[in-house]
Amino acid sequence: MPFLYRWSKSIQSALLGPACVLCHAPAPLTQDICADCKAELPWLQAACQHCALALSELAADRVCPDCRKRPLADRAIAALHYRPPADWLVTRLKFGARMPHARLLGDLLAERISAVDSPRPDWLVPVPLHPSNLRKRGFNQAERIARRLAEPLAVPIAVGGIERRLATERQSTLAASARRANVRNAFACDRDLGDAHVAIVDDVVTTGHTARALAACLRHAGARRVDLYAVARA
Ligand SMILES: [Zn+2]
Ligand SMILES: [Zn+2]
Repeated sequence: MPFLYRWSKSIQSALLGPACVLCHAPAPLTQDICADCKAELPWLQAACQHCALALSELAADRVCPDCRKRPLADRAIAALHYRPPADWLVTRLKFGARMPHARLLGDLLAERISAVDSPRPDWLVPVPLHPSNLRKRGFNQAERIARRLAEPLAVPIAVGGIERRLATERQSTLAASARRANVRNAFACDRDLGDAHVAIVDDVVTTGHTARALAACLRHAGARRVDLYAVARA
């Protein structure tokens, strides 16, 4: 079936052009989603400006109670709620290597960032994978998403010098306190960020512990401002 599916998909795209990754209807040349499916995506509307947590439209200053005490990022922008079909798009990218999903998710995030009035960073910093996870998966989904942002936003990706020292990907089974301890020293930044404004790029933000640990590491390396760009917020 997967073979037949891929075969029929490639015939279809050769004959008809690109198809929507969700319903397989013809999609615009520049995107991997049709207009109807795009309109029905779980767009994140009102959200905390420091962590992208969904807030009620009534929260005038757009800051969640946690960020009032300790903001996660200087500015956080996320495109979607981590709900169907956004969760499916992300999981099939990560565990099924569906690269058109990286393209689509990156494009949706780029659109969202472009619509927000916020200064552009000097660098994009995709959340690094631990080398053992990178070997297993063969690619870093955050880096693939960041690649789709670099051109439309005209911001380069920071390559090298930022590493993940602990394989903390699969920590959903750990208790919250163990997770926090687990990610605290998860990253190492061996480059001088010399007062730069950087933006972390990730597929999904759930607890925010990973982004917080990476942000601390980047600030320690000299970053003046750390933003967070995520496709989806749980
Ligand atoms: Zn569709
Ligand atoms: Zn917040």
